[in-house]
Amino acid sequence: MPDALLAVDGLSVAFPGAGGDVEVVRRLSFSVAPGEFVGLVGESGCGKSITALALLRLVPEPGRITAGRILLEGEDLLELAEPEMRRVRGRRIGMIFQEPMSALNPVLSVGFQIAEAVRVHHAVSRREAREEAVRLLDLVAIAAPRQRLKDYPHQLSGGQRQRVMIAIALAAKPDLVIADEPTTALDVTVQAQILELLEGLRQQLGLAVLLITHDLAVVAETCDRVVVMYAGQGVEEAPVEPLFAAPAHPYTRGLLAAVPTLGGAARGGDLPAIPGQVPEPASLPAGCAFHPRCADVMDECRQRQPEIYRVAERQTARCFLYEGPRPEASGS
Ligand code: SF4
Repeated sequence: MPDALLAVDGLSVAFPGAGGDVEVVRRLSFSVAPGEFVGLVGESGCGKSITALALLRLVPEPGRITAGRILLEGEDLLELAEPEMRRVRGRRIGMIFQEPMSALNPVLSVGFQIAEAVRVHHAVSRREAREEAVRLLDLVAIAAPRQRLKDYPHQLSGGQRQRVMIAIALAAKPDLVIADEPTTALDVTVQAQILELLEGLRQQLGLAVLLITHDLAVVAETCDRVVVMYAGQGVEEAPVEPLFAAPAHPYTRGLLAAVPTLGGAARGGDLPAIPGQVPEPASLPAGCAFHPRCADVMDECRQRQPEIYRVAERQTARCFLYEGPRPEASGS
């Protein structure tokens, strides 16, 4: 990961449970290069949103980061004092949340909120901050931005509110934006517009984006590279094309088979869901955490945990099907 903007190395997050610490993120490693669009994908409860919070050192108490490093341009964020970390949040890493209504202040105009975000990070006058707010609203494709400054969040549509959140995230000119399910609360057309906007901003500003989502169709549209999470671990990592053309991990294959627009499921028929449930972090099965749901399960999968193995150039999977030379294991 020598050229990484963000390099996450062996990150673990735990919450205290009745029988001791319960790990909800387990030795997760991945990286994001400058200007890269990376998707962190998994079902709800897999640990992806906690990972987003951990990257900003905002894991809610009593949870805590128990292991690993989070390197931003080589600097370990876990070693920074809290005042330094406050400067990282917003200034170097912007954050876009799922539900903008809860992140925006309902009693302040959007112009004021964007201008304040500008002033927190840059020494500018109120007038300059206001002009920057107009520019940012224009950048996120809000029509008639000067008139919109006086609007309150409830006067805007869901899509416009998410654009305002993106404007606030961009106010400090960060190098990286973490977007946690930014389009889940929006209808499909608006969803596509917001993703297009993020993609355009990436190209225009050289912004890196870490997109956290449960939706593989969204990933296919936007991302360069994908990290698939299951039960707190990264189970597959690959550029988008090979991941969708030849998914290696049985879990990724199951996820893809359930997305009709990606050709995985019989159109008009029932979606082939992955049988069984995502395990609770406090009661993970022995061996590979996916083994009770896996169609390819072998004896060893029940006994020991797989490491991450190389599948192909730039594609890895945490699965015994790829452990060392296994000529008989096709994996597809
Ligand atoms: Fe399935 Fe075994 Fe691979 Fe786990 S290690 S995904 S159980 S084949």
